[in-house]
Order: sequence, then structure tokens, then C-alpha cells
Amino acid sequence: MKMMLEKSALYVVATPIGNLSDISLRALEVLAGADAIAAEHVQNSAHLLAKHHITAKWIRLHQHNESAAAEKILSLLRAGERVALVTDAGTPGISDPGAILVQRVREGGYRVIPVPGANAAVCALSAAGISDPHFLFYGFLPAKSGLRKRALTEMKSYQFTVIFYEAPHRILESVTDMIEVFGENRKITIARELTKLFETIYCGTLAETLAWLQADSNQQKGEFVLLLSGAEMPEESGISEDARHTLSCLLAELPLKQSVKLAAEITGGNKNALYQLALNLKSGEPGF
Ligand code: SAM
Repeated sequence: MKMMLEKSALYVVATPIGNLSDISLRALEVLAGADAIAAEHVQNSAHLLAKHHITAKWIRLHQHNESAAAEKILSLLRAGERVALVTDAGTPGISDPGAILVQRVREGGYRVIPVPGANAAVCALSAAGISDPHFLFYGFLPAKSGLRKRALTEMKSYQFTVIFYEAPHRILESVTDMIEVFGENRKITIARELTKLFETIYCGTLAETLAWLQADSNQQKGEFVLLLSGAEMPEESGISEDARHTLSCLLAELPLKQSVKLAAEITGGNKNALYQLALNLKSGEPGF
């Protein structure tokens, strides 16, 4: 039996990110009741719906035709139809098309009704065991290393978890760039192939994570969410994570006194505290 949907409304429907059973009862009811379904790749979405014996009138809506598809959908809404929007996986509009359509529909005075469900970032966060209540969802980093490093550098002082999406062919490069920007010891969680057969959740320092990825090429395959821990809060000594990292880089190249002087100038950190830290670093004390 078809659910009664609101006339002239756009339903934004989340679909699974891997396991086809991860779809809500309401999502199925809405998809079964809609007059038309807008989808990124009709074949992928038709496969999901076939599992639930749902057939549909399809409209293609993807990154490259979203404005034109929005016009078509607006004309259906004007005629009183109920339209559902889905993407290939997860929640539409999250690193996926949907925002332009939603804007146009709202501007047109029609209702936009979200039907919540799977999202890779939230799924990863729920299983990462990160106690920090704050996080930033960044999505995909730039594909080119220079731009990627620039984007990462802007996040250097963030004291909260940053969540990235990453493609398999860039996973090694991205983790390598993160090491360059944040140092080897920053913590990261990698959530790979969530809800699928080879689901893997790995936590470690950036250096450990790179080694883990390099040790087994299978771990470089599939879909990834990266959860990068924030910079440590400045400690009682007043030395921030940033100052600590700068000092250890300088110490690798320069004499101790010069390193301390430069680190204090570059980071604004307390010179005496940096001097003490430099002595500890040189003597190989743990914790640095
Ligand atoms: N709209 C989706 C959402 O709500 O999560 C995201 C779509 S975005 C085009 C696809 C990216 O999401 C992938 O490249 C990957 O980074 C992440 N992703 C999607 N499914 C995933 C999964 N099962 N496991 C890990 N990451 C996933």
C-alpha cells in the first residue's frame, strides 16, 4: 500500500552506504509513494529499490546537470507531484549533489522534507570512540598535493576532530601530506568500507597509519573516512602542539640554542619552556 505523501513536496531521502539493509522504513515508504525519484545513477538506485520491490519514474540528477534537473523537478512540483531525491550512497547534499535542487525548491515556495538515514562521516564517528564532543566535517580534500597541503595547513591549530572523505587512489598521498603538516604523532582513525564485507576501523598515529596502509595494499582499497584528531590543548608549560612540532623540526637541523630562539620567534611560545622542552627532546625523554 502506498504511503500518502504531501503534494508538491521534495523528499530528500538518505540511502545505505554499503549494506543495502541500512534503509529506514520511512525511506522505503517515501520511495514507494513518490511520483518520481531523482537519482545520480539510476541503475544503482534501481538496484536498491528492486530489492524492496519498488519501481519508479526516474529523473537523472547529478553534479553536471543539477540546475536543468531542478527546473524539471520544479515543473513536477507545480503540477502537484511528490518527488524524492536520492544519491548513490548516504545522505544527499553531503559531498553529493542536492543543495542546488533544495535551494531552488525552497525558493519556489515548496516544502523540502528530509528523510534521515546513513551518512559515512557520522557512521565512522559513531565507531571511532573519540571523546571530544566537537568535530568539523570537511569532506574531500583538494586532489592536488599543493592545494591539499595548503588546506591542511589552515587546519593546523584546530583543536577538534576533522573528518575527511578520501578516494582509494589518494589515501597514501593524503596521509603523507598530513604527516608533513601535522607531524608523525598526530592521531588519526581510518574507517574503511563501512557496513561492507571488508569493514575496517584502524586508529593510530599518522606514522603508524601510513606504515599500516603501506604494509597491506588491500587496506588501500575501497571507500575511506579519515578522522584526524585535533591539536593538543596548550599544556601548563604553555607549549602548544604547534610550537612543539616546530621546535623538534628545528632541532633536527640546528643547534639547541638557535632552535629555541627561532621556535619562540616563530610560534610566540615561552622561551624558557621551549628551552626545557629542547633539553628533554635532546636527551630522548619520553612523551615528545
Ligand atoms: N553522501 C554520502 C554520505 O552521506 O556519506 C557521501 C558521498 S561521497 C560522494 C562518497 C565518499 O563518502 C567516499 O569517497 C568515502 O570517502 C565516503 N564513504 C561513502 N561510503 C563509505 C563507506 N561505506 N565506508 C567508508 N567511507 C564511505
